Amino acid sequence: MATTSDTTPDDREFEPTTSVCPFCGVGCTLTYEPKTGKSTGEAGPVNTKGEICPKGAAAFEMVDNDDRLTSPLVREDGDLVPASWDEAFDRIEAEFGTVLDEHGPEALGFFSSSSCTNEENYLLQKIARVLGTNSVDNCARLCHSSTVAALSDRFGAGAMTNTLDDLTEADVFLATGANPAEQHPVIFRSYLLPAIRDGTTFIHIDPRENATTDAADIHLPVKPGHDIPLLNALAKVVIDEGLVDEEFVEERVDNFEVFEEFLADVDVAENAELAGVDPDDLREAAMAFGEADRAAAFSGMGMSQHQSGTDNVHALINLVVLTGNVGKRGTGVNPLRGQNNVQGAGDVGALPDILPGYQSVTDPEARERVADVWGVEPPVDPGLTEVEVTHGMGEDIHAAYVFAENPAVSEPNLSKVRERLDAIDFLVVQDIFLSETAEHADVVLPGSAWAEKAGTFTNTDRQVQRVRPMTDELPGEARNDLDILAEFGSRVADYEFDDDPETVFDEMTEVNPLYAGMNYADTDEGSVRWPYPEGADSGQEVLHAETFANGERTTDLHLVDHVAPADEVGEDQLVLTTGRVLQHFNSGAVTRQSGTLMKLRNENALQMHPQNAEERGIEDGDTVVVENDRGRTQVKVEVTPAIRPDTVFMTFHCADPLVNDLTGDHLDPVAGIPEYKHTSVHVSVVSNEKDV
Ligand code: SF4
Repeated sequence: MATTSDTTPDDREFEPTTSVCPFCGVGCTLTYEPKTGKSTGEAGPVNTKGEICPKGAAAFEMVDNDDRLTSPLVREDGDLVPASWDEAFDRIEAEFGTVLDEHGPEALGFFSSSSCTNEENYLLQKIARVLGTNSVDNCARLCHSSTVAALSDRFGAGAMTNTLDDLTEADVFLATGANPAEQHPVIFRSYLLPAIRDGTTFIHIDPRENATTDAADIHLPVKPGHDIPLLNALAKVVIDEGLVDEEFVEERVDNFEVFEEFLADVDVAENAELAGVDPDDLREAAMAFGEADRAAAFSGMGMSQHQSGTDNVHALINLVVLTGNVGKRGTGVNPLRGQNNVQGAGDVGALPDILPGYQSVTDPEARERVADVWGVEPPVDPGLTEVEVTHGMGEDIHAAYVFAENPAVSEPNLSKVRERLDAIDFLVVQDIFLSETAEHADVVLPGSAWAEKAGTFTNTDRQVQRVRPMTDELPGEARNDLDILAEFGSRVADYEFDDDPETVFDEMTEVNPLYAGMNYADTDEGSVRWPYPEGADSGQEVLHAETFANGERTTDLHLVDHVAPADEVGEDQLVLTTGRVLQHFNSGAVTRQSGTLMKLRNENALQMHPQNAEERGIEDGDTVVVENDRGRTQVKVEVTPAIRPDTVFMTFHCADPLVNDLTGDHLDPVAGIPEYKHTSVHVSVVSNEKDV
C-alpha cells in the first residue's frame, strides 16, 4: 500500500463524540472508548440501550488502521505512485475537460456511495447534474432498487412503511429473503426477538435455515428464483379462505375482482411444488398471515436481487394489501436496508432517474424546483445505472468517478467488469483503502472514514441522524470526503460547490420534499424522521394511513406471473445463492481490515447439502472448484442439511474466493438490479486434504 506520510493513524487522538455506526442500515449510535481505543455502543434512537453487534464493536478498526491511504496516487508508467493534491486534481481537471470537450457529459459516469453521508451523496449527484448528466448511481442499484421501484409505484414512497417501534405490535412477522439475525442484528435482537418471545408468530421464507430461522414458527425454504409462485399461492389461500380485508379492499384497492380472477387458476399445491415448499406449511403460513389483526412483512435481498426482483416485491405487496395490512401500526412492507446510508443515498438523489426526494428527472416541475435553488437545470434524460456505466466503460463511457464503492468485487460477472475498468480512458477512485477497484484507477484520492466526518445518515426506518467527527486530524495527507468532492466539482464544472455539511444539508432540504422542514440543528439531538410535514413536531411514523404517499387514496393489485431465472440449471448443476454473514459486510473492503472480525470469521465456505456432497464424493472441509461459463473459484465446503438439496450458498464478502466471478449480469427490466441470487454452477472436488 502506497503512503507518503510519517503520520500513521495510530498517532492520532480521538474524542468520545457520539456518532452512527458505518455498517448496516439499522443505524446504531456509537462512540469512542479511550480506555480500549475501540468503538462502543451508546444509547441512541435505534439502539436505545446502547446495544451493538460485533461489526459495530470493530468499527474503529477501519479508522485507526495502518493500511489507510495517506496520499493521492497517480498512475505513471503503469504504476500508482504518490502525488500531491495539486498534481492529482490537475490531472483530473485536464482529463475530465478533454472528455467533456470530445464526447460531452453523457460520456461521464459517477458512482456515489451508500456508506457515505447524505451531504456527500447530495453533492456528488449535484456535480453530475451540473455537468450535464444524470448518470449517477449508488450500490442501492445492486441491493434494493427493485424494492424501491415496486414500493414507489404502488405507494409513492420507496422505504419502510412503518417504524421499528410500531412493528413490535404485530401479531405476525413474515420475513422473506432476509436474515436479520446476522444482517441486522440489533433489529433482530432488540425489536423482532422480544416480540416473537411475547407471542408474535414468525414466518421465515429463505432457501436455507440460518440464525433467523431458529426463531421461526414456520419455515418455507423457497427455491431461489421462485418467490412469485409462493407469494401468489399465499394470496390464493387468503382469498379462498375468506381472509381478505373486505373493508380495506373496498376503500383502498382499485381492481380486486381482476386480481381474484387472475388467481382463479392458481393451484396451491402445484405452486408449492414449483416453489419447493411443503403445501401444508404454505397453507399454515397463509392462514396465520390472513387471520392476524396486524401482520408485518420484511423483505431482503433474497427477494430483490433477481431479474424478477420488482415483480417479487409486487407479489409481496399484493399479500399485504389484500389483508389490509397497510397504514396502521404493526403492519406494512418493510425492506431491511443493507448499508448504513443506502436509504439516504437514494433519498438525496444519487440515482440516475430520480432527483432529490424521489422526484422524476423527467418531471419538468421538479427540474424547475431544483433549478430555482441550483441556478442550473438538471438534464431531462434519465442517466445510466451503475451496471450500465460499468458495461459502457471504454465504449460510450470515457471517464468515471467512483466514490467509496467497489464494483470490482460487488458487481456481477466480474471478468467482464475488470475488462471494462481497464478499458476506460480515465478512472478516479476516492476511498480510504486501496480497494480492488482502486487498483484499476488512474488517480486515487485518499478520503475520510466515518469517525472523521460530519453530516447525516438516514437509517432503514427513515431516521436522519447526525454523524460527528471524533478527530480533526486525518492520516497523512488524506482529506475530508466532502471537501474533496467540492474541490473536484469546482475544478471540473463552472460552478462553486460548498463543502460545509450544514450548508449542504440546508440546501438539500430546499430541493428534497421529503426532507423539507428539517434543518441541520434538528438532527443534533436524537433523530428526525422523513417525511417531516410542515409544522409537525416530529416526522411521520406510519405511512399511507389515509392516502398513499403519492396522494392517492387507492392502489391496485399487480398481476405478476412467475419469471424463470435467467440461468438454466443444466445436468449435474446446482443453484448458487449468496448472502451476508454476521462478521463481515458487503464487498469486505472495510471488514477485511479488521483483525477482530477476521479472527471471528476469516474463511468463506460453500454450504452444501449432504445429499449433493455424497453424490460428488465431497466431505466436510474438502476444497472444491465452483465454476460456470463466466468463471471459477476454489472454496472449502461446509456440508450441512441447513441448505436445500438443489442449492449451494456462499457469502459475497471476499475477494478470494470471489463469488461474483460466477454471478450473471441479467438485469431486472424495471430496476436494473442484477440476478445475484440464482446462478447455475458445477461443483467438483479438488482435494480431500482438509488443510489445502
Ligand atoms: Fe452497526 Fe448494524 Fe451492528 Fe448496529 S446492527 S452495530 S448499525 S452493524
